[in-house]
Amino acid sequence: MRKMIIAGNWKMNKTPKEALALIEELKPLVKNDEVDVVFCPPYVSLMLAVEAAKDSNIEIGAQNMYFEEGGAFTGEIAPNMLKELGVKYVILGHSERREYFGETNEIVNKKVLKAIEHDLTPIICCGETLEQREQGITVDLVRTQIKVALKDVSAEDAKDTVIAYEPIWAIGTGVTATSEQAEEVCAAIRQVIGEIYSGDVADAIRIQYGGSVNAGNAKELFAMENIDGGLVGGASLKADFGKVVNYK
Ligand code: 13P
Repeated sequence: MRKMIIAGNWKMNKTPKEALALIEELKPLVKNDEVDVVFCPPYVSLMLAVEAAKDSNIEIGAQNMYFEEGGAFTGEIAPNMLKELGVKYVILGHSERREYFGETNEIVNKKVLKAIEHDLTPIICCGETLEQREQGITVDLVRTQIKVALKDVSAEDAKDTVIAYEPIWAIGTGVTATSEQAEEVCAAIRQVIGEIYSGDVADAIRIQYGGSVNAGNAKELFAMENIDGGLVGGASLKADFGKVVNYK
């Protein structure tokens, strides 16, 4: 049985002081032994967040990292920096990174390999635009995103990675994919994992859905066979996140 994993992607929200206050507010609300709970605040709050989450079931993730070990890359953050802080997860290839910062599937692959090398668990994002969905190319596109992102990743390492299917048209729009739409693509992702590796890896890997997840729709989405939790934006910034984590 796969353990559910529900992560909050705070995006570019909350100052360090606000981040601390939010973690303290949410800590008692997100207790749930059946779910891995991850908070992903901005870089500048990671150190405080790891400290604040110490006595809780919350793990901390970053929203990005660079694929080099260090050096002349102004403004970037290396994987060993995250690791030393006690960060466990890193979101890679979010559609906002792809759209505003030019990240390609190949860049995402380099980041995935580097994260794994440093024992950080990647949360690999994929998903289509509305236009691509209307053209009927969603599954093909997502299959390519996954194949390239996992290039040269071993079966053993692939088992521990997390995939987040986030249709871009559902992000921050209040329009959630229906549970059937989300399940269809998550099932296709599991299938492509099976083709790349084996049924074992496909069974082990956890696939999240993301895009306007909230306290009202989490139960139905997370009940789907191939959906193992969520990557949550807006609703992770308020008390509602407790209800998302305790969706049953
Ligand atoms: P929303 O939950 O705000 O739609 O954001 C989803 C997302 O992009 C999480 O990474």
